[in-house]
Amino acid sequence: MRNGDDQALPDQRPKLQRKVIAAAESQLAKQKYVAPIDVIVALGWLSSSNIDFWRAGRAPYLNGIAVGEDKVAGALVYLAQWAQEQGLERSEVPYAAATRDRRPLQFTESGEPTLELVFRTHLVAPGLSEKKREQIDARQSKVPDLAVITPTKAWDCGTCGRHYEAEDFLLMEDDAPLCMDCADFGHLVFLPAGNATLSRRAKAESTLAVLVMEFNRRRKHYQRIGILVEQEALERAEEKNLADEDIRALRRARDAERRAAGDIDFQAEMAGEIRLAFPGCPAERAMEIATHAAQRGSGRVGRSAAGRALDAKAVRAAVVASVRHLDTPYDTLLMAGVARSDARAQIRATIDAVLDGWATP
Ligand SMILES: [Zn+2]
Repeated sequence: MRNGDDQALPDQRPKLQRKVIAAAESQLAKQKYVAPIDVIVALGWLSSSNIDFWRAGRAPYLNGIAVGEDKVAGALVYLAQWAQEQGLERSEVPYAAATRDRRPLQFTESGEPTLELVFRTHLVAPGLSEKKREQIDARQSKVPDLAVITPTKAWDCGTCGRHYEAEDFLLMEDDAPLCMDCADFGHLVFLPAGNATLSRRAKAESTLAVLVMEFNRRRKHYQRIGILVEQEALERAEEKNLADEDIRALRRARDAERRAAGDIDFQAEMAGEIRLAFPGCPAERAMEIATHAAQRGSGRVGRSAAGRALDAKAVRAAVVASVRHLDTPYDTLLMAGVARSDARAQIRATIDAVLDGWATP
């Protein structure tokens, strides 16, 4: 018997049950709801980097759980019992992958429906105000940000097959790398991390924002090195952030960097090729398309080996990418959840009409 209060009965509940309840109580106090996967993490069975990898759509199920499915199910039964005793509300939460199709995520290797449902069901504090409940529901069903990575070696795009260098961004999807144009991120521009206010504003201004991650070999995990946002969103954010003088200095520095890299000549050359193929395309637009497509490190078609050789198909691909984003409602369709293939089918006629219009001077 412990010394002290000899009236106290020893806690007869299994150790696992006590640990589950402690984890759940702490989460309920902190965020007013309990998510089963957070309990699994609190039990030390799963790391948050496993969750990140899975939420990014890179794993077929939540692998990396250190114990078997039976043990996990046991812990979740304790959680359910406790939630019932506490009178918590059950709320089924959609778990979507941070992929372009936002597909539903599978938790378990077996995909057993009952266990899947238990994982998806969050337990919410009862009696919250309607407003508070709405806030919590929004936070729970938030889809993680889309993310691209800077690879460590040269690579080939899994969709268009073009060859890219290690500096070019790629999107991993279904275990294949996609270039920025095939991922439909080609119209976005890179904003390096470092100015938190600017990043936050640019992200808020942009219809579509994508994180850029790089593998840190020393720390052995991915870290955020910046974001991709719409050009206009970045400009609006810069304008809010900086005095006019600073904006001009910033843009001068950027132009100088591009010139130093010898990119300007190539971009002019590419614009020339665009005008040869599409004589009706205004000169200014051709330059804009070339500058954008051939930007260093962008992972866009102008940086691919074919693009740099000014291959006719690559030049056309750069033009099509620009028309798709600027002259059709493609991005709006994607944001509204229309599948990529359906969205592409819907806008095909519009793209053809613009290209036909540019085919003659
Ligand atoms: Zn591609």
